[in-house]
Order: sequence, then structure tokens, then C-alpha cells
Amino acid sequence: MTESLVLYEVVDERIGVVTLNRPDKANAQTPELLDRLHDVLMGAAADPGVRVIVLQANGKHFSAGHDISGAGDKRAADDLPSDWSVGGLAALYEWENRRYLGYTRAWRDIRKPTIAAVHGQCIAGGLMLCWPMDLIVAADNAKFSDPVVRLGIGGVEYHGHTWEVGPRQAKEWLFTASVFTAEQARQLGMVNHVVPLDELRPFTMELAGRIAQMHPFALAQAKRAVNQTMDIQGFYAATQAVFDIHHTGHGHALAVNDYPILTDLDQMKRDQPGM
Ligand code: ZN
Repeated sequence: MTESLVLYEVVDERIGVVTLNRPDKANAQTPELLDRLHDVLMGAAADPGVRVIVLQANGKHFSAGHDISGAGDKRAADDLPSDWSVGGLAALYEWENRRYLGYTRAWRDIRKPTIAAVHGQCIAGGLMLCWPMDLIVAADNAKFSDPVVRLGIGGVEYHGHTWEVGPRQAKEWLFTASVFTAEQARQLGMVNHVVPLDELRPFTMELAGRIAQMHPFALAQAKRAVNQTMDIQGFYAATQAVFDIHHTGHGHALAVNDYPILTDLDQMKRDQPGM
């Protein structure tokens, strides 16, 4: 059951294709989906036969973000020492530190090129799946949004916003909970290419195939050059700092009992009835 949430195959003997496979829930991320995705991506990263990794999604949408409905304190209880009190901000912090910040950082630092192929909605936590990839190809129907300011939180746990679209656009995007179309995202530098929806997979595979012809060590070093430059500019420290800022939002929500906590999927349905 868990394995079917994320599919994996090696294509053309060199390209590891990872497919989110929870289409009936717009690929909203349960803990099981994230754990499986992490295992698959790390497995592809460790496979010397795989030179490029593609992350794509089945269904109408790339990802509607986190889906923690029904998880409650169980998700914390599963991950904390038994002598810790379960619940509260500490438990949530530890859980998110592992699965959200920890996983995304590990994906970003995979020592081979990664490409996200995004179509449909990519909402809030969905950004944590495509941003850590090196390149993003978007279908012309792709829409990117992070509406979590509405929930009293300053943004998702992996703060790529400022780096991906620049500080002013990041602020307005968050302040207004607005949406970037694929073309807007491309103009801002967040997306490499925009292609018609039915060309998304063949275009992405052709791009991956071209990259796979390069020397793996040179690819790893080219990636490291860019990522290391960003880290020297402060990316790594900033993502850690903003993760903690994010948790002041969670702390506030916990302190004010009647605060409206919705999952991203709930929010999406409320914003866009009929999806
Ligand atoms: Zn959070």
C-alpha cells in the first residue's frame, strides 16, 4: 500500500523516474508518502547506474501540499523518545525537522542532477517537492501558491521563496496568498521551461537524456558549485532560521486554541471548489 504512493522505474538505463501516485488526493503528502518518497529518492541517489532523477506526478495535480488529517499526535509519538511528553510544539518541531526540513535538504544535496516536472496545482508543501530539484519543467497549466499566511504561518517549512522569486515577489506572494502561473514562474526564474501539458513528460525525458550523457562527476561538481555558492550566500543558514520562524506560527496556533488549523488540501478545496 505504502509503496504504491510513490512509483519508481529506471528508464533508458540511466534516468530514475520517481512518480507521486496519490492522484485521488491531488498527491497531498501523508507521512507515509513522504517517507516512501525519501526512500526512493535516496535509493536513486545511491544507484551508480542512475545519472539523472526525474520527479513527476500522476493525476491532475503535482501536489496539494501536506495532508496530516487524521495523523494528530500519532505522528509525533512515532518519532519521539517514549519518555518525552507527546504533543506540544517540541513534538511538532522534531517531526517537521525530520520530514520537512531534513528530507528536503537531503534531496537538494543529492549528488546528481534532479528535474521536477510540474503540472496542475503545486500548493504550499508541494513547493517543498519541486524546489529542492535542480531544474523545474512546468506544464502550461501549472500554478504555484503558498497560502499558509491565511493559516497564521509565515510560509512552508522549507523557505525557498526568497531565493526562488526574489524578496519583493516573495513578500507579495506570501502577503496576498496569490498564485504564480507557469509563465510567471518562468519569468521570475523559478521555472526553467514551460511546455504544453501533453509535452511535459517527453520534454522532461529528453532534457534528462541530454544531461545523462555528461560525465557524472562533472555533473556532481557543477551542481555543487551552484549549491555551495548559495550556501555561502546564506541559503543553508536561512532555511534553518526560517524553519524556526515557521514554528513561531505553529506555537501561536497551539497557544490560541480556537485558531483555524486546516490542512493545505482543505484550504485548496475551500479556495477552489470543484477541484
Ligand atoms: Zn509546519
